[in-house]
Amino acid sequence: MTVRDEAAIDERIDRAIDELDLPTKVKLLTGASMFELHAEPSIGLQPMVFSDGPNGVRGTEFVGGRQVALLPNATLLSQSWDETAAQRAGELLAGEALAQGVHVVLAPTVNLHRTPLNGRLFECYAEDPLLSGRLAAAYVRGLQRYGVAGCVKHWVANESETDRHTMNSQVSEAALRELYLLPFEICIDDAHPWTLMAAYNDVNGVAATEQDELNNVLLKSEWAWDGLLMSDWGATKTAGPAAEGGLDLVMPGPDGPWGSVLVSLVEAREVDEVTIDEHLRRLIRLAGRVGALDGIPAERTAQLDSPPSPTDAVVRSALRNLASSGMVLLKGQDVLPLDETEVTDQAPVVLIGAPALTTTLMGGGSASLRPPHEISIADGLTESLGVNRVRVVDGVEVRQNPLATAPDQVVDPQTGNPGVRIVSFDEDGTERASTTGAVAQVILGMGYGPHDGAAQLEFSARLTAPTGTPVRVGVRGAGRWTLSYGDQTFPVDLAPPAGSEEVGFMAPSTWSTTVEATPDHALVARLTVPLGERFALAGLIAEAARISADDAIAEAVLAARDAETAVVVVGLTAEQETEAVDKASLALPGRQDELVAAVVAAARRTIVVVNAATPILMPWLADVDALLWVGLPGQEGGHAVADVLLGRAEPTGRLVTTFPAADGDGPAWSVTPVGGTLAYTEGTRVGYRGWDSGPVAPAFWFGDGLGWGRWEYASPAYAAGADGETVTVLVTNTADRPSREVVQVYWRPADPDAPVRLVGYAVADEVVPGEERLVTVRCDPRAFRLWNSDSSSWTTPPGGTLLLARGLGDVRLELLRGQAPTSDAGAAPLARQTAP
Ligand code: BGC
Repeated sequence: MTVRDEAAIDERIDRAIDELDLPTKVKLLTGASMFELHAEPSIGLQPMVFSDGPNGVRGTEFVGGRQVALLPNATLLSQSWDETAAQRAGELLAGEALAQGVHVVLAPTVNLHRTPLNGRLFECYAEDPLLSGRLAAAYVRGLQRYGVAGCVKHWVANESETDRHTMNSQVSEAALRELYLLPFEICIDDAHPWTLMAAYNDVNGVAATEQDELNNVLLKSEWAWDGLLMSDWGATKTAGPAAEGGLDLVMPGPDGPWGSVLVSLVEAREVDEVTIDEHLRRLIRLAGRVGALDGIPAERTAQLDSPPSPTDAVVRSALRNLASSGMVLLKGQDVLPLDETEVTDQAPVVLIGAPALTTTLMGGGSASLRPPHEISIADGLTESLGVNRVRVVDGVEVRQNPLATAPDQVVDPQTGNPGVRIVSFDEDGTERASTTGAVAQVILGMGYGPHDGAAQLEFSARLTAPTGTPVRVGVRGAGRWTLSYGDQTFPVDLAPPAGSEEVGFMAPSTWSTTVEATPDHALVARLTVPLGERFALAGLIAEAARISADDAIAEAVLAARDAETAVVVVGLTAEQETEAVDKASLALPGRQDELVAAVVAAARRTIVVVNAATPILMPWLADVDALLWVGLPGQEGGHAVADVLLGRAEPTGRLVTTFPAADGDGPAWSVTPVGGTLAYTEGTRVGYRGWDSGPVAPAFWFGDGLGWGRWEYASPAYAAGADGETVTVLVTNTADRPSREVVQVYWRPADPDAPVRLVGYAVADEVVPGEERLVTVRCDPRAFRLWNSDSSSWTTPPGGTLLLARGLGDVRLELLRGQAPTSDAGAAPLARQTAP
């Protein structure tokens, strides 16, 4: 941005502070609705529009909104360890935002992978703060270069979902500084995000929205950050303490705890008007940056003439590449990629598993959205190989509760068009609204949509399945229901699930039964909306009934027996990887482990593909021939998986979190607050930093991943100069395929009380067989700092050892920091080898 623009924005800020009266100023500091801010024409302020991210720009509708690009989830993106890819993701999202008139994308999420049970890990980059911060910075650069604000969230110590509105994270100062604050600090230093989001939780007894120490003293003074701090949705509990504690904007609106209460506090001189003006200053500055002040263009370093559509070939291919490059090969370099010439009509690949047919392409909660299409693994592989060279076998059920009806399963009984007809009624029985289409559920509460406030809802549909087909039908959401099909009537009284109101929204109770499809029968479900409903879902279920798990396993075994190669896809769904709810176990849901074991016993070769973002237990790990981790790969997911299985793309990913071998293992496990407090007792030993000194080995380390290459490391060298510290190393690809290596440098401080940590990484791309490549890793000085809690200041101790490693389970070389190399031992691994 030019200096003149800054000056113009400052002028407008001064004008707003001078001219607006107190109630107007305060009004602007709470949202106007769920995702929009108030306009104020007298100062040329347009209404700013916010939308969730991080894997897409959903827009202002929670469900049934516009079709938008669905990117790979955050862990799949971060597994590339590639800042260019993260920036590309931000740029794609900027295009999506501009196409919808969105000014602020509520992303990235930089909370750390503290415990693998966190339901929202899929949205957060990694267990390491350096990697998280650098990727977040690149992502924000991608957004903001086109004038769309990023919103780094959730500030701070928000690493689990259980009791998220009330819990208190108890964290030491050192852990806060060295871990949880560091991604924010790096992102602010490197990319200057224009907004941040204050979390729901308390931090050491004070609400994140009221944290004078963190918000005013650290963020706005010590770090001199000049952006806008908004609250998470519904996180603000007070007027005075939050306004004085550094929160600039309450979301959502129009109601909330500020308004007239805050005005009265200022009038009574309990809150200084200067505080209000400071929040307003940041709000107007944001408006100026994103182009929401009349006459002032957005702050941009690049122009996007016409934002591409999510179905454009360029976008599709970018999404496909982003997904495949983050995939991680964890086992089976001799087995993958498949030799396409050996896959014939007579010897097809046998593809087994429900997630092969219904691939989970995104996580649940506010990150979920409506993509233009969803390419399953079965779709992708069939399109690549042709229908005769793939045999698809559905496996066991993986969901505990069915989803609302997909539009192709039903038609509106009145119009015959695909979808469910939804009619709502007022208390006196008069019709309130009627809708039909792709969405088979409605949101209750929050003034949302045409059915909100109704006393009764009626869902109706005709099943499209051939006559006599068993179909699972049912309802979703708490309340008194009557479901009827033909002459069968089922009264259903569904209680809400345990936990907060929003659990009922993210993971509603369901009921279902099986009927036989009959052409002239209509499926009708009537709900008496529970009184006082504030935030809930209600929906209709109709989907093809599944065969029993025993039969599904028997069918898979029969198919596997005939196959040269069986590919079994297992995974999690948005029931486990979602907002508001944590996991209780890392075990795969349903009888998926039994399915894998049965296929392994029957097939000549078994490749397991895991469709999940975050750790699972793998009791069958030693028995399978190959293991490919594909994350939640976004709208082009199935194509990306096919590209990797067939060797058209390399799975260049390295894990971003350490995988326990058993439930309960690892430095941090529980997500359940005790007496309202979740104590981060592991201190600074989070993730690999804790596993490193822990009693048990993990199944896989942060940083693990094979790719197509095999690597020798030699000639390490350390240098320190005006530019900082660097490590160079010669890597050689000894495999017979070109490959990409991620060279990771960890520092083990001399002080045994300070845990090991990643201090730098660098990529060697397209290294051809036999090639030696000199790689330079610039160590990040911010990762060498240790927090001294006695003096409340940073120290940067010298010495210690630098490890050149492919994850801590495969340390290749060690160097004394600040000295000549101690070893030039080539590829000999110096540390324990735990990955199979
Ligand atoms: C989530 C935020 C999200 C917001 C708006 C909250 O429940 O925690 O990450 O941006 O909702 O949808």
